[in-house]
Amino acid sequence: MILVGDDPGSAIYVRNKKKATVECGMKSFGYELPADVPEAELLGLIDALNADPNVHGILCQLPLPKHLDEFKVTCRIDPAKDVDGLHPMNVGLLSMGREGPVSCTPAGVMVMLHRAGIEVAGKECVVIGRSNIVGKPVAQLLLKENGTVTVCHSRTKDLKAVVRRADVVVVAIGRAKMVTGDWIKPGAVVVDVGINRNAEGKVVGDVDFDSVAEVAGAVTPVPNGVGPMTIAMLLRNTLDAFKRAEKARAAAR
Ligand code: NAD
Repeated sequence: MILVGDDPGSAIYVRNKKKATVECGMKSFGYELPADVPEAELLGLIDALNADPNVHGILCQLPLPKHLDEFKVTCRIDPAKDVDGLHPMNVGLLSMGREGPVSCTPAGVMVMLHRAGIEVAGKECVVIGRSNIVGKPVAQLLLKENGTVTVCHSRTKDLKAVVRRADVVVVAIGRAKMVTGDWIKPGAVVVDVGINRNAEGKVVGDVDFDSVAEVAGAVTPVPNGVGPMTIAMLLRNTLDAFKRAEKARAAAR
């Protein structure tokens, strides 16, 4: 795990991820670099981790300080060790419906749907948000499972009307309690990815849970909904990367 700079949010995420890896018996190697680290030094560290056979997963916590090119850094990670599923190679595999590491939060959303017995095949699925880390990959995963997927964003006209058509709504906007009960078709499934702090400093989602719960068939809470799934999927991606590496090693023998 690579943490650059001293963003307090990122530090908490990295600490929690590290704790979880150790708890499940994985070895975690942490690298904390100063906010002004030269790009070449960060890329050199990634190269060393790519080459280290004891490392199966590399995570560089985003966002990075402004002087560092996030795309370049993401591309430098060996796709086989890209446990965040953000390398263009893995994004490409996902868009082709092929196996590979998938971005952790979207993967967690799908596991929640599966475990709750919610089928998306043939359903109207609306994703609000089109980020590379959540909106786009979650849309690809819903499509892979034969949902009829609409991706909405800040320029979508009459968002509420689009959302009201949906059987499954995944909300990843970053605006506290924006989606209210009157946006939701009765019985629809609502997954809230948002993490926001309200005026009192409390963590709230993008969904107004109370009003949505009155009409929805199911709705995930914030906190303790999608959030913990993200870390669980990071562990799963790391274990999968390890298994693939072992298989390749055995085949090369
Ligand atoms: P982002 O800022 O990169 O993207 C937000 C998206 O929402 C954009 O595509 C934008 O077009 C859309 N949007 C913004 N305002 C809108 C509006 N008024 N109407 C419709 N669409 C609008 O954010 P992100 O990284 O995708 O994260 C989204 C939320 O999910 C944030 O609250 C973030 O903290 C949270 N998040 C949670 C987890 C987790 O582990 N649970 C992981 C990643 C992100």
